[in-house]
Amino acid sequence: MATLLEAFGPNLEFARELAPLTSYRTGGRAKYFYSCRSGSEVTRAIESARRLRIPYFVLGGGTNLLVSDEGYDGLVIKVDVVGLRVIDGETIEVGAGEDLMALVDFATANSLTGMEFAAGIWGSVGGAIYGNAGAFGGEIGSVIESIRLVDHDGTIKTVGPDYCKFAYRDSYLKVTHEVVVDARIKLTKGDQTAIAAKVKDILSQRDGKHPNDGLSAGCFFKNIPDVREKYGKLPAGRLLEDIGAKQLTVGGARVFERHANIIVNSGTATSRDIRTLADILKARVKEKFGIELQEEVQQLGKFD
Ligand SMILES: Cc1cc2nc3c(=O)[nH]c(=O)nc-3n(C[C@H](O)[C@H](O)[C@H](O)COP(=O)(O)OP(=O)(O)OC[C@H]3O[C@@H](n4cnc5c(N)ncnc54)[C@H](O)[C@@H]3O)c2cc1C
Repeated sequence: MATLLEAFGPNLEFARELAPLTSYRTGGRAKYFYSCRSGSEVTRAIESARRLRIPYFVLGGGTNLLVSDEGYDGLVIKVDVVGLRVIDGETIEVGAGEDLMALVDFATANSLTGMEFAAGIWGSVGGAIYGNAGAFGGEIGSVIESIRLVDHDGTIKTVGPDYCKFAYRDSYLKVTHEVVVDARIKLTKGDQTAIAAKVKDILSQRDGKHPNDGLSAGCFFKNIPDVREKYGKLPAGRLLEDIGAKQLTVGGARVFERHANIIVNSGTATSRDIRTLADILKARVKEKFGIELQEEVQQLGKFD
């Protein structure tokens, strides 16, 4: 214990509940928990975890995450680096811990266009970069100018978008597990009224399709690449609709009545309920269409 506190300092927390930090509101506790407000705190956390051989996991807004009911037997590093500023008229520097929606609002307030697609996407900027979050034909990878990362040795480095190999809901960070500290977002000057109208339109299109007040993690499965489809993707929701997903429940987990690719916690679900329902959906789609759905939602901890 003394070694741990020497390494991390007094801000290290023990047995921290993770459910309130996720949009599903399910799952157990993290053995250790450390909130970082700067790149140097992220460096300290990673160096200390490696030196003490403690496994670690990086947490953003917890909106694309299913945490095991047994919790996580390691260190959760929560990235709470905040800050938003325009640095040269058309570029925004943003902390990885900022809400993506705060970035959309800030871009609008500064008459900068290019972020509207992200209106209504939950979570942090860091989490969005990790998973190349997107909607309405846009994705965050296409507006990145540069990113500051902390690598496995605790070294801070700046990389460009090519390094991240952005693809559909994917980036190279899923391989390296480096931590995003902040990013520069390249936008263009536009008409503020038009930008605000586009944001409003996207928010109203999302309204009803997403359980905005409910407990979910957005789409559970990735769409399937298909050049014949709009945006080049066959919506997983269409396959799920076809297998009667909307009628399915497991314990407190159910499929959202207006979108078959969203699993919601009705209020009493465990992570196990959600995982079991997801497994049933996968198996039925595989049986009927021969397609293996891939999870968009990330998992933390044991599920066997
Ligand atoms: C109602 C609702 C609607 C949604 N709609 C969409 C949508 O339209 N499009 C879409 O793409 N997603 C959508 N999502 C899913 C989710 O909002 C995004 O995937 C979001 O980008 C996740 O960010 P987060 O900070 O919550 O990540 P978390 O859930 O905290 O983490 C997800 C992954 O990112 C990693 N990560 C988090 N922060 C960092 C960091 N700083 N550095 C490195 N890795 C990090 C974590 O290790 C984890 O593997 C929706 C979710 C909800 C609840």
